[in-house]
Amino acid sequence: MEQLVQQMEAYKKEMAAFEGKTPEAVEAFRIKFLGTKGIVKDVMGGMKEVPNEQKKAFGLVLNEFKQFAEARYEELKAATATEGGEAAAGYDWSLPGDQIGVGTRHPLSIVRNQIVSIFRRLGFAVAEGPEIEDDWHNFGAMNLPEDHPARDMQDTFYISQNPDWLLRTHTSSVQARVMESQKPPIRVICPGRVYRNETVSARAHCFFHQVEGLYIDENVSFADLKQTLYFFVQEMFGKDVKVRFRPSYFPFTEPSAEMDISCLICGGDGCNICKHTGWVEILGSGMVHPKVLENFGIDPNKYTGFAFGMGVERITQLKYQVNDLRLYSQNDIRFLKQFTGAV
Ligand SMILES: [Zn+2]
Repeated sequence: MEQLVQQMEAYKKEMAAFEGKTPEAVEAFRIKFLGTKGIVKDVMGGMKEVPNEQKKAFGLVLNEFKQFAEARYEELKAATATEGGEAAAGYDWSLPGDQIGVGTRHPLSIVRNQIVSIFRRLGFAVAEGPEIEDDWHNFGAMNLPEDHPARDMQDTFYISQNPDWLLRTHTSSVQARVMESQKPPIRVICPGRVYRNETVSARAHCFFHQVEGLYIDENVSFADLKQTLYFFVQEMFGKDVKVRFRPSYFPFTEPSAEMDISCLICGGDGCNICKHTGWVEILGSGMVHPKVLENFGIDPNKYTGFAFGMGVERITQLKYQVNDLRLYSQNDIRFLKQFTGAV
């Protein structure tokens, strides 16, 4: 036992004199003294050779030895940490940190916000409504009674528990809710997601986004409609864009017109986007049908109004030349990252 105690004293001196300035040296210390095959373990193995009556006293010495080794190890570790040990371990605290990925706005959100801000400047308020609608607000109130052939153009998804409920096919349902709850003058735009029972392809999708507008007041004329939409396309696409109106049919407006703008891709020379006509359709519009006004107790002899509706995907396609509708909902980060600079 004497011999073992002397040996421990010698080890203690060695430990006290140990100079380790790098993490590697400190680790070497740990392996030598505190490792599974280290000196502390080895010395403790000497316990079994100690006579029983001395075991208690020897145990105390052993314990003190072990604590000494551990304390010295912690001391060395702390010293390397404060004496530039990080640099030796490969850390350089002056390096810039890893960048945190910042998300970008979805192109459809960018364009919807632009559309909304243009109409806001003209005094339009934003109105929103539910995506699950009843038949009346989506169709009936909009002069699309049951069995009306125009319903075929807007087949949608129905809620099986209640056949009166459906996913709205246009945001006209929001206009219906506004006319229901407000008295003229009414001046709102209704941005939102709409649904159609369509096969998904590059040109069609089962859901898309619209911005519709409604203006009802005394003496609102078709000239107001044209000027409002003309202002919109100039703000959206630039001063050089040309517009034309083509007569059309919608059950909820009379007269109705579709509006084309000169093709921005080819400048009017003809390309795939404009089907070689030089013109692209961007929205539908018209004077609110007297029947629709009557549906909400608005006197058509006193009030007139205009309405219009456009697809956000369509405007985005023209602005950013996105040629496949499916890209908008595939969550492909390579596609979405291209809009980092847009606000
Ligand atoms: Zn073109």
